[in-house]
Amino acid sequence: MNLARLAAYATDRRLVYGWRRRYVPWVLDITDPHDPRFTPHGSHEDVPYVRRSGKGSAPRPGCDTLDYLIGRHHDAWTDQLRRFAEHDDGPGARAARTALDAGILTSLVPPPSSKPSDLVVLRASGQLIHQDPGLARFWEAQLRTGLDAGLHGVCLCCAGTAAPLARLVPAYLPPSAFRQNGAGDLALYPASKNRPGTSPVPVCLDCACALGAALPDLAGRPDHHHRTQEGTLLLWWGLDGAGDFPLGALLTHPDPAALAAAPTSGRLCAMLLKPATGRIALTWFLDEPTRTVLDRIRHWYDTTGVYDGWSDTIRLTGIPSMHHQLGRWNPRTRTYQHLSPTTPPESGLWTAALSGHLPHQHARAALTATRRDNRVSTGRTALLQLCSASAHGAR
Ligand SMILES: [Zn+2]
Repeated sequence: MNLARLAAYATDRRLVYGWRRRYVPWVLDITDPHDPRFTPHGSHEDVPYVRRSGKGSAPRPGCDTLDYLIGRHHDAWTDQLRRFAEHDDGPGARAARTALDAGILTSLVPPPSSKPSDLVVLRASGQLIHQDPGLARFWEAQLRTGLDAGLHGVCLCCAGTAAPLARLVPAYLPPSAFRQNGAGDLALYPASKNRPGTSPVPVCLDCACALGAALPDLAGRPDHHHRTQEGTLLLWWGLDGAGDFPLGALLTHPDPAALAAAPTSGRLCAMLLKPATGRIALTWFLDEPTRTVLDRIRHWYDTTGVYDGWSDTIRLTGIPSMHHQLGRWNPRTRTYQHLSPTTPPESGLWTAALSGHLPHQHARAALTATRRDNRVSTGRTALLQLCSASAHGAR
């Protein structure tokens, strides 16, 4: 059950839903309630985040865009700040209350050369308000209220019974996660078409929050994801004590020493995602003991290692490089170019290596590329060896 495995990643690591690492160009200092000041901030921060869709307002406390602070969503933004100021008594809430009571937040002037979409964090007495523990509690409560379907039932993720169910599964990624442009987030479990705003899978509030936290976290960690040449996203994570398994590094930068030192305990999960008409499609899933996956990676290198007679060594090629060598060889620049639209996808090599299946398409493509360019290379030979391994009945 891949839902439960993904939720377990968030639960194990105590990830919190509703936060995302983003670039924040501005800070608004409200220490002096009569003289609020915008100054450049220019840093990446974990800030409150909720998906916005449609025309309605969905403010985010402590850090939002200039459009929310000053523009058309200003009322929704100040209403939320007021609710936070009234629900909490920490330093962040007190500073917000003072600024709201002084009326200074209604007459802000945007900083020069800023854009409405620029993010702004609030700061008072040297403390960033989005880092206030009271604000985190307020934001969590607000998100759970927004997700609550008002129903109880069986959760398809944790199998809990009589659990409060979520309206939808808030597992989203931005299009940039797939090398695409565009602003709106894509949903892994999009709301039901028949009943908009409701989930196609009944999931409890806890699991919905866990799934919403897990997906962007994995996609944001370089040691937990790989974006393939064709723009699919491979995510992986360890459970049951597997820790941070270096899956991407092992298959990108072949190193027998790293393979020998890789952890062997626990289970490994991986999933392959691709964008599909405004949503995210799950196209492949792995959930196996770490030891099994390691055996397959060893077998992959045993099969694709190419003997170099000059140096009397075995040369290993990482998957991205192997795939790149399916492109057309340019003898002038001595580089590979132009992967044609019919080139089998890089993701096929990852799923082949991890599942132990042979990528016949890629071996055929290597043969075609070798004939076309009249050039053989280590990566192409590696793929051809996969083909002959298949002919000899290897697994
Ligand atoms: Zn659940």
